[in-house]
Amino acid sequence: MSTINYLKEKTWDIISDRRINTLHPNIRAKAKEFIVRAEKELGIKLRVTSGLRTWEEQTRLYNKGRSAPGKRVTNAKAGQSYHNYGLAFDVVEIKNGRAIWKNPNWNKIARLGKSLGFEWGGDWRNVDKPHFQMRFGIHHTTLAELYQSGQKDGAYVKLA
Ligand SMILES: [Zn+2]
Repeated sequence: MSTINYLKEKTWDIISDRRINTLHPNIRAKAKEFIVRAEKELGIKLRVTSGLRTWEEQTRLYNKGRSAPGKRVTNAKAGQSYHNYGLAFDVVEIKNGRAIWKNPNWNKIARLGKSLGFEWGGDWRNVDKPHFQMRFGIHHTTLAELYQSGQKDGAYVKLA
């Protein structure tokens, strides 16, 4: 069996490649593999719409529909989202240049993502189909402690 180093691969989409490079180094290869194999095996062009999100960005999102105008978009405060550690990303299928948010392919996409070890937001009570994450068995409260006590490599918490 040959193994592909997905880190060195490029996806169909330079925007996704760039966003994958914002993710925690421990999940970059898997995220790349997800996008590459979705296209090759399923014929589905996925774009990464969001990767690492700073705590400030998370606070801005959390305030939407609360202290700021708009609809509520998240229940996670700063430090409570795996995006804040580069351990989560969102995807959407791009077809004829358009993002397909209401998509009959979500289950196929999820099956591939989950086979790579990602947890899917579509399985949650507050369904979040574009969302995939890897927790490494670490709760976000522990990640927040690591983060705030400075146990980091650059922007990323050290995962053992
Ligand atoms: Zn997400």
